Amino acid sequence: MGEQITHPTIKDGWFREISDMWPGQAMTLKVNQVLHHEKSKYQDVLIFESSDYGTVLVLDNVIQCTERDEFSARIGPEQLDWKSSVLINGSYQEMITHLAMNSHPNPEKVLVIGGGDGGVLREVVKHECVKEAILCDIDEAVIRLSKKYLPGMAVGFQHPKVETIVGDGFKFLEDRKNEFDVIITDSSDPEGPAEALFQKAYFELLNGALREGGVITTQGSENQWLHMPLIVELKKACKEVFPVVEYAYTTIPTYPSGQIGFMVCCKDPNRDLKKPVRQWSEEEEEKLCKYYSKEIHEASFVLPNFARKALR
Ligand code: SAM
Repeated sequence: MGEQITHPTIKDGWFREISDMWPGQAMTLKVNQVLHHEKSKYQDVLIFESSDYGTVLVLDNVIQCTERDEFSARIGPEQLDWKSSVLINGSYQEMITHLAMNSHPNPEKVLVIGGGDGGVLREVVKHECVKEAILCDIDEAVIRLSKKYLPGMAVGFQHPKVETIVGDGFKFLEDRKNEFDVIITDSSDPEGPAEALFQKAYFELLNGALREGGVITTQGSENQWLHMPLIVELKKACKEVFPVVEYAYTTIPTYPSGQIGFMVCCKDPNRDLKKPVRQWSEEEEEKLCKYYSKEIHEASFVLPNFARKALR
Protein backbone atom coordinates (compact mmCIF):
# COMPACT_ATOMS: atom_id res chain seq x y z
CA MET A 1 0.00 0.00 0.00
CA GLY A 2 1.33 3.51 -0.89
CA GLU A 3 2.13 6.02 1.82
CA GLN A 4 -0.83 8.17 2.83
CA ILE A 5 -0.39 11.80 1.77
CA THR A 6 -0.86 14.33 4.56
CA HIS A 7 -1.52 18.08 4.29
CA PRO A 8 -1.61 20.80 6.97
CA THR A 9 -5.20 21.74 6.07
CA ILE A 10 -6.43 18.22 6.85
CA LYS A 11 -6.96 17.22 10.50
CA ASP A 12 -8.89 14.20 11.80
CA GLY A 13 -10.05 13.39 8.28
CA TRP A 14 -11.53 16.87 7.60
CA PHE A 15 -10.19 19.55 5.25
CA ARG A 16 -10.52 23.03 6.79
CA GLU A 17 -10.42 26.18 4.65
CA ILE A 18 -8.94 28.64 7.12
CA SER A 19 -7.97 32.05 5.70
CA ASP A 20 -7.69 35.71 6.71
CA MET A 21 -9.98 36.42 3.75
CA TRP A 22 -12.89 35.02 5.80
CA PRO A 23 -11.91 35.49 9.45
CA GLY A 24 -13.54 33.36 12.11
CA GLN A 25 -15.16 30.90 9.76
CA ALA A 26 -14.04 27.96 7.64
CA MET A 27 -15.66 25.57 5.19
CA THR A 28 -14.90 21.98 6.18
CA LEU A 29 -15.19 18.92 3.95
CA LYS A 30 -14.81 15.30 4.97
CA VAL A 31 -11.86 13.70 3.18
CA ASN A 32 -11.90 10.14 1.86
CA GLN A 33 -8.37 10.28 0.49
CA VAL A 34 -5.76 12.74 -0.75
CA LEU A 35 -5.25 12.11 -4.45
CA HIS A 36 -2.35 14.48 -5.08
CA HIS A 37 -0.26 17.19 -3.45
CA GLU A 38 2.52 19.28 -4.93
CA LYS A 39 4.10 22.72 -4.65
CA SER A 40 4.00 24.05 -8.18
CA LYS A 41 6.09 27.03 -9.28
CA TYR A 42 3.27 29.34 -8.18
CA GLN A 43 1.12 27.68 -5.55
CA ASP A 44 0.33 24.78 -3.27
CA VAL A 45 -1.86 22.34 -5.22
CA LEU A 46 -3.97 19.81 -3.30
CA ILE A 47 -6.51 17.42 -4.80
CA PHE A 48 -8.60 15.19 -2.60
CA GLU A 49 -11.61 12.94 -2.83
CA SER A 50 -14.29 14.10 -0.39
CA SER A 51 -17.08 12.02 1.08
CA ASP A 52 -19.96 14.02 -0.46
CA TYR A 53 -18.58 16.62 -2.85
CA GLY A 54 -16.62 14.41 -5.24
CA THR A 55 -13.09 15.46 -6.18
CA VAL A 56 -11.95 18.84 -4.79
CA LEU A 57 -9.22 21.14 -6.16
CA VAL A 58 -7.53 23.39 -3.57
CA LEU A 59 -4.93 26.06 -4.41
CA ASP A 60 -2.98 27.73 -1.59
CA ASN A 61 -5.46 26.19 0.89
CA VAL A 62 -8.51 27.71 -0.85
CA ILE A 63 -11.18 25.55 -2.55
CA GLN A 64 -11.30 26.24 -6.30
CA CYS A 65 -13.89 23.74 -7.40
CA THR A 66 -15.64 20.55 -6.36
CA GLU A 67 -17.37 18.04 -8.59
CA ARG A 68 -20.62 18.43 -6.68
CA ASP A 69 -20.79 22.21 -7.16
CA GLU A 70 -20.33 21.39 -10.81
CA PHE A 71 -23.05 18.72 -10.87
CA SER A 72 -20.43 16.44 -12.40
CA ALA A 73 -19.68 13.96 -9.64
CA ARG A 74 -19.70 10.31 -10.58
CA ILE A 75 -19.23 10.86 -14.30
CA GLY A 76 -16.29 8.75 -15.34
CA PRO A 77 -13.65 9.98 -17.81
CA GLU A 78 -14.56 7.23 -20.27
CA GLN A 79 -17.90 8.95 -20.85
CA LEU A 80 -16.36 12.31 -21.57
CA ASP A 81 -15.42 14.16 -24.69
CA TRP A 82 -16.21 17.74 -25.60
CA LYS A 83 -19.40 16.74 -27.43
CA SER A 84 -20.88 15.20 -24.29
CA SER A 85 -19.94 18.27 -22.25
CA VAL A 86 -23.58 19.33 -22.56
CA LEU A 87 -24.21 16.79 -19.80
CA ILE A 88 -21.99 18.55 -17.34
CA ASN A 89 -22.56 21.97 -15.89
CA GLY A 90 -21.89 24.16 -12.90
CA SER A 91 -23.36 27.16 -11.13
CA TYR A 92 -20.11 29.15 -10.98
CA GLN A 93 -18.75 28.11 -14.37
CA GLU A 94 -22.06 28.59 -16.12
CA MET A 95 -22.71 32.00 -14.63
CA ILE A 96 -19.26 33.56 -15.12
CA THR A 97 -19.38 32.36 -18.73
CA HIS A 98 -22.94 32.82 -19.95
CA LEU A 99 -23.48 36.22 -18.28
CA ALA A 100 -20.76 37.52 -20.61
CA MET A 101 -21.41 35.33 -23.65
CA ASN A 102 -25.14 36.05 -23.76
CA SER A 103 -24.52 39.78 -23.28
CA HIS A 104 -22.65 39.87 -26.60
CA PRO A 105 -24.53 39.66 -29.93
CA ASN A 106 -21.96 37.43 -31.65
CA PRO A 107 -18.97 36.32 -29.56
CA GLU A 108 -16.58 34.67 -32.03
CA LYS A 109 -13.23 35.05 -30.31
CA VAL A 110 -13.08 34.41 -26.58
CA LEU A 111 -10.25 34.57 -24.04
CA VAL A 112 -10.20 32.92 -20.63
CA ILE A 113 -7.58 34.15 -18.14
CA GLY A 114 -6.96 31.60 -15.38
CA GLY A 115 -9.58 28.85 -15.45
CA GLY A 116 -6.94 26.09 -15.53
CA ASP A 117 -9.49 23.48 -14.45
CA GLY A 118 -11.12 23.85 -17.90
CA GLY A 119 -14.69 24.36 -16.67
CA VAL A 120 -15.13 27.84 -18.17
CA LEU A 121 -13.78 26.62 -21.52
CA ARG A 122 -16.33 23.81 -21.38
CA GLU A 123 -19.08 26.43 -21.08
CA VAL A 124 -17.62 28.79 -23.73
CA VAL A 125 -17.65 26.11 -26.42
CA LYS A 126 -21.34 25.44 -25.85
CA HIS A 127 -21.88 28.61 -27.94
CA GLU A 128 -21.81 27.56 -31.57
CA CYS A 129 -20.82 31.05 -32.76
CA VAL A 130 -17.39 30.67 -31.10
CA LYS A 131 -14.65 30.33 -33.74
CA GLU A 132 -11.68 30.50 -31.38
CA ALA A 133 -11.24 30.17 -27.61
CA ILE A 134 -7.87 30.79 -25.95
CA LEU A 135 -7.12 29.95 -22.31
CA CYS A 136 -4.12 31.47 -20.54
CA ASP A 137 -3.36 30.09 -17.07
CA ILE A 138 -0.16 30.80 -15.21
CA ASP A 139 0.21 27.31 -13.76
CA GLU A 140 0.71 24.23 -15.93
CA ALA A 141 0.20 22.07 -12.83
CA VAL A 142 -3.47 23.09 -12.54
CA ILE A 143 -4.11 22.21 -16.18
CA ARG A 144 -2.18 18.93 -16.00
CA LEU A 145 -3.81 17.79 -12.77
CA SER A 146 -7.34 18.87 -13.74
CA LYS A 147 -7.04 16.76 -16.89
CA LYS A 148 -6.12 13.81 -14.70
CA TYR A 149 -8.41 14.26 -11.69
CA LEU A 150 -11.26 16.54 -12.86
CA PRO A 151 -12.17 15.24 -16.30
CA GLY A 152 -15.69 16.67 -16.03
CA MET A 153 -14.21 20.15 -16.05
CA ALA A 154 -11.11 19.61 -18.18
CA VAL A 155 -13.29 18.27 -21.01
CA GLY A 156 -13.27 21.85 -22.38
CA PHE A 157 -9.60 21.47 -23.36
CA GLN A 158 -10.51 18.79 -25.92
CA HIS A 159 -12.54 21.09 -28.16
CA PRO A 160 -10.91 21.66 -31.58
CA LYS A 161 -11.34 25.44 -31.40
CA VAL A 162 -9.45 25.72 -28.12
CA GLU A 163 -5.85 26.86 -27.70
CA THR A 164 -4.11 26.62 -24.32
CA ILE A 165 -1.29 28.92 -23.26
CA VAL A 166 0.68 28.65 -20.03
CA GLY A 167 1.60 32.15 -18.88
CA ASP A 168 0.72 35.15 -16.76
CA GLY A 169 -2.61 36.61 -17.87
CA PHE A 170 -1.47 40.17 -17.18
CA LYS A 171 1.62 39.79 -19.40
CA PHE A 172 -0.37 37.96 -22.09
CA LEU A 173 -2.79 40.89 -22.39
CA GLU A 174 -0.04 43.48 -22.78
CA ASP A 175 0.49 42.36 -26.41
CA ARG A 176 -3.18 41.99 -27.37
CA LYS A 177 -5.21 44.82 -28.87
CA ASN A 178 -8.76 44.86 -30.30
CA GLU A 179 -8.84 41.11 -30.57
CA PHE A 180 -11.50 39.51 -28.38
CA ASP A 181 -15.28 39.73 -28.16
CA VAL A 182 -15.46 38.29 -24.65
CA ILE A 183 -12.78 37.91 -21.96
CA ILE A 184 -13.53 35.89 -18.84
CA THR A 185 -11.16 36.14 -15.87
CA ASP A 186 -11.54 32.98 -13.80
CA SER A 187 -8.72 33.65 -11.40
CA SER A 188 -7.93 32.58 -7.90
CA ASP A 189 -8.32 35.09 -5.04
CA PRO A 190 -6.25 38.29 -4.82
CA GLU A 191 -3.59 36.78 -2.59
CA GLY A 192 -0.88 34.99 -4.60
CA PRO A 193 -0.29 34.86 -8.38
CA ALA A 194 -3.64 36.50 -9.17
CA GLU A 195 -2.97 39.72 -7.23
CA ALA A 196 -2.37 41.87 -10.34
CA LEU A 197 -5.69 40.71 -11.84
CA PHE A 198 -7.61 42.79 -9.30
CA GLN A 199 -6.15 46.21 -10.18
CA LYS A 200 -7.24 49.04 -12.43
CA ALA A 201 -4.22 48.48 -14.72
CA TYR A 202 -5.57 45.00 -15.47
CA PHE A 203 -9.01 46.34 -16.40
CA GLU A 204 -7.29 48.79 -18.76
CA LEU A 205 -5.53 45.89 -20.46
CA LEU A 206 -8.82 43.99 -20.74
CA ASN A 207 -10.49 47.03 -22.28
CA GLY A 208 -7.67 47.41 -24.80
CA ALA A 209 -7.79 43.72 -25.78
CA LEU A 210 -11.54 43.82 -26.49
CA ARG A 211 -13.06 44.60 -29.85
CA GLU A 212 -15.86 47.18 -30.17
CA GLY A 213 -18.83 46.13 -28.06
CA GLY A 214 -16.75 43.58 -26.14
CA VAL A 215 -17.77 42.20 -22.76
CA ILE A 216 -15.82 40.95 -19.73
CA THR A 217 -16.69 39.04 -16.61
CA THR A 218 -14.29 38.62 -13.76
CA GLN A 219 -14.42 36.51 -10.66
CA GLY A 220 -12.59 39.03 -8.47
CA SER A 221 -15.86 40.06 -6.95
CA GLU A 222 -16.05 37.73 -4.00
CA ASN A 223 -18.90 37.72 -1.52
CA GLN A 224 -21.34 40.42 -0.41
CA TRP A 225 -21.41 39.20 3.21
CA LEU A 226 -17.62 39.18 3.58
CA HIS A 227 -15.97 41.47 1.07
CA MET A 228 -18.15 44.52 0.45
CA PRO A 229 -15.24 47.03 0.65
CA LEU A 230 -13.29 44.98 -1.93
CA ILE A 231 -16.32 44.80 -4.22
CA VAL A 232 -16.85 48.57 -3.93
CA GLU A 233 -13.17 49.20 -4.82
CA LEU A 234 -13.34 46.81 -7.76
CA LYS A 235 -16.49 48.39 -9.12
CA LYS A 236 -14.88 51.81 -8.83
CA ALA A 237 -11.78 50.63 -10.72
CA CYS A 238 -13.96 49.08 -13.46
CA LYS A 239 -16.07 52.23 -13.71
CA GLU A 240 -12.96 54.29 -14.41
CA VAL A 241 -12.29 52.07 -17.42
CA PHE A 242 -15.61 50.77 -18.81
CA PRO A 243 -18.78 52.80 -19.56
CA VAL A 244 -21.06 49.98 -18.36
CA VAL A 245 -20.29 48.07 -15.14
CA GLU A 246 -22.68 45.77 -13.28
CA TYR A 247 -22.30 43.39 -10.36
CA ALA A 248 -23.99 39.98 -10.45
CA TYR A 249 -23.73 36.95 -8.21
CA THR A 250 -24.43 33.26 -7.99
CA THR A 251 -24.94 30.77 -5.19
CA ILE A 252 -22.48 27.92 -4.73
CA PRO A 253 -22.18 25.59 -1.75
CA THR A 254 -18.42 25.50 -1.21
CA TYR A 255 -17.33 29.11 -1.73
CA PRO A 256 -17.16 31.17 1.48
CA SER A 257 -20.68 31.91 2.74
CA GLY A 258 -22.19 30.14 -0.27
CA GLN A 259 -22.01 32.97 -2.74
CA ILE A 260 -19.64 34.54 -5.27
CA GLY A 261 -19.93 37.66 -7.42
CA PHE A 262 -18.83 38.82 -10.83
CA MET A 263 -18.07 42.19 -12.35
CA VAL A 264 -19.67 42.30 -15.78
CA CYS A 265 -18.47 45.19 -17.97
CA CYS A 266 -19.01 46.30 -21.56
CA LYS A 267 -17.33 48.69 -23.99
CA ASP A 268 -20.65 49.68 -25.56
CA PRO A 269 -22.25 52.43 -23.44
CA ASN A 270 -25.72 51.48 -24.71
CA ARG A 271 -25.67 47.80 -23.78
CA ASP A 272 -27.97 46.68 -20.96
CA LEU A 273 -26.01 43.78 -19.46
CA LYS A 274 -28.91 42.77 -17.26
CA LYS A 275 -30.88 41.53 -20.26
CA PRO A 276 -29.33 38.79 -22.41
CA VAL A 277 -29.02 39.90 -26.05
CA ARG A 278 -28.98 36.27 -27.14
CA GLN A 279 -31.13 33.56 -25.65
CA TRP A 280 -31.41 29.82 -25.89
CA SER A 281 -34.87 28.26 -26.13
CA GLU A 282 -36.12 26.78 -22.87
CA GLU A 283 -35.47 23.32 -24.26
CA GLU A 284 -31.87 24.19 -25.23
CA GLU A 285 -31.34 25.89 -21.90
CA GLU A 286 -32.37 22.76 -20.02
CA LYS A 287 -30.13 20.64 -22.18
CA LEU A 288 -27.09 22.92 -21.88
CA CYS A 289 -27.32 24.31 -18.35
CA LYS A 290 -28.24 23.19 -14.86
CA TYR A 291 -28.13 26.66 -13.29
CA TYR A 292 -28.09 29.45 -15.90
CA SER A 293 -31.31 30.57 -17.56
CA LYS A 294 -32.43 33.90 -19.01
CA GLU A 295 -34.44 34.49 -15.84
CA ILE A 296 -31.41 33.75 -13.62
CA HIS A 297 -29.34 36.06 -15.86
CA GLU A 298 -31.66 38.96 -15.09
CA ALA A 299 -32.16 38.02 -11.43
CA SER A 300 -28.44 37.71 -10.72
CA PHE A 301 -28.08 41.50 -10.90
CA VAL A 302 -30.80 42.10 -8.29
CA LEU A 303 -28.96 42.82 -5.03
CA PRO A 304 -30.15 42.94 -1.44
CA ASN A 305 -30.54 46.50 -0.13
CA PHE A 306 -27.27 46.62 1.81
CA ALA A 307 -25.25 45.64 -1.25
CA ARG A 308 -27.25 47.80 -3.67
CA LYS A 309 -26.69 50.80 -1.42
CA ALA A 310 -22.94 50.15 -1.04
CA LEU A 311 -22.49 49.78 -4.79
CA ARG A 312 -24.61 52.75 -5.84
N1 SAM B 1 -13.18 30.09 -9.62
C1 SAM B 1 -12.14 29.64 -8.88
C2 SAM B 1 -12.11 30.28 -7.50
O1 SAM B 1 -12.23 31.49 -7.40
O2 SAM B 1 -12.02 29.56 -6.56
C3 SAM B 1 -10.89 29.83 -9.64
C4 SAM B 1 -10.57 28.57 -10.35
S1 SAM B 1 -9.23 28.58 -11.44
C5 SAM B 1 -8.55 27.03 -11.03
C6 SAM B 1 -8.06 29.78 -10.88
C7 SAM B 1 -6.83 29.77 -11.78
O3 SAM B 1 -6.27 31.07 -11.88
C8 SAM B 1 -5.70 28.87 -11.30
O4 SAM B 1 -5.57 27.80 -12.18
C9 SAM B 1 -4.47 29.75 -11.28
O5 SAM B 1 -3.30 29.09 -11.71
C10 SAM B 1 -4.90 30.86 -12.23
N2 SAM B 1 -4.15 32.11 -12.09
C11 SAM B 1 -3.82 32.76 -10.94
N3 SAM B 1 -3.12 33.87 -11.23
C12 SAM B 1 -3.02 33.94 -12.59
C13 SAM B 1 -2.39 34.85 -13.48
N4 SAM B 1 -1.73 35.92 -13.04
N5 SAM B 1 -2.49 34.61 -14.81
C14 SAM B 1 -3.17 33.52 -15.29
N6 SAM B 1 -3.76 32.62 -14.46
C15 SAM B 1 -3.68 32.83 -13.14
